[in-house]
Amino acid sequence: MRILVVGGGGREHAVVWALKKSEKVKEVFCAPGNAGIAQIADCVPIAVHQFDELVRFAKDASIDLVFIGPDDPLAAGIVDAFEAHNIPVYGPNKAAAEIEGSKIFMKDLLRKYNIPTAKYETFTEYEAALTYLREQSVPIVIKADGLAAGKGVTVAYSLEEAEQALREAMVDKVFGDAGNQIVIEEFLEGQEMSILAFVDGETVKAMVPAQDHKPVFDNDKGPNTGGMGTYSPLPHIEQSIIDESIQNIIIPTAKAMVSEGRPFRGVLFAGLMITKDGPKTIEFNARMGDPETQVVLPRLKTELVDVVLASLNGRLDQLELEWSEEAAVCVIVASEGYPASYPKGREITGLEAAEAQGALVFHAGTAEQDGKIVTSGGRVLGVVGRGRDIAEARARAYEAVSVIHFDGMHNRTDIAAKALKG
Ligand code: AMP
Repeated sequence: MRILVVGGGGREHAVVWALKKSEKVKEVFCAPGNAGIAQIADCVPIAVHQFDELVRFAKDASIDLVFIGPDDPLAAGIVDAFEAHNIPVYGPNKAAAEIEGSKIFMKDLLRKYNIPTAKYETFTEYEAALTYLREQSVPIVIKADGLAAGKGVTVAYSLEEAEQALREAMVDKVFGDAGNQIVIEEFLEGQEMSILAFVDGETVKAMVPAQDHKPVFDNDKGPNTGGMGTYSPLPHIEQSIIDESIQNIIIPTAKAMVSEGRPFRGVLFAGLMITKDGPKTIEFNARMGDPETQVVLPRLKTELVDVVLASLNGRLDQLELEWSEEAAVCVIVASEGYPASYPKGREITGLEAAEAQGALVFHAGTAEQDGKIVTSGGRVLGVVGRGRDIAEARARAYEAVSVIHFDGMHNRTDIAAKALKG
């Protein structure tokens, strides 16, 4: 098989790596890819929103299967674009991807089908939103309706903070049209957990759970990022809670999408809060998480390409996923200044030494320059350690990070610490 993966981050590096494990897979292309992906696949310089060019490439290169990584092209209908040319493509179509593309669509869906989520109101008018906000207590959560590169959510601990977030979204338009409508949502307290699932219509095959660390600094301090590290499994969370989340949230949501005439095919990602009243939905994403993918796929024993093919052939219900007992911990290494502005072009050293230790080094924001690997993004690498348990995997991940260097690099030092506290 010849496969095209669309995207160029750490998630796509992990996807390409997992696809290549299969003997069925002859050649993998990635558009646009990055310097790490280029070591194991052929990178094609086409951006993820250039649908016509991507379709043309897939035809010219006789691609048998396309795998879409990121959210933006899904929301913009990239799957519909490939399907229009009868090219097999894995991911939700535009109508189904709206579960991530519009928070209001998602919240209204969950309310209609009685699926547990935070209480909320939606607004299109700033004044009405402000009046409502002033009647609420803090903490409270303000969310831009549309896609905002993971930055459209503010958890406000004071009314001033909440008012500022509202003003920025609705008046200053810092998220552009994504902030035309907003959600004001009840603050949920508890442990967070992500469950990704391969979904095809009503068939749900859940993956092992993972936990992300959004804030940039240790002890969850500082602004939110795309994710600073993940781990799987979650030894401190009971299996019954995981099962309850799948039964009460993910399966009913997949069914609701079918009932709405928007059957979902692809990876559905539930961001959950385990509250004292049980698991509740924080968000749904219409694709694999980054950096959740980097710890989940290394634990998948079933070949990823077989899962995708089963789904495209309508046989996902007959497939049982097999998982490794091994633990995985991913530490994100970021550029100086991230998540605000950051420099690019800094030489990265120690990558081979880290890999020689047995770590998986998934590249996110890297490029090749004059034969050297340099930084080209905010999140630069995802360094994954694997081991018998979280403690061992974590120690290996940090050992590997310690041999990698570029000027100004920073990473959290407390990834997976919660799991060890018990
Ligand atoms: P989202 O982009 O929707 O995943 O939100 C980003 C982060 O904000 C989540 O990972 C949570 O940590 C936090 N968050 C979002 N909604 C809520 C909520 N209702 N209560 C508490 N925290 C939330």
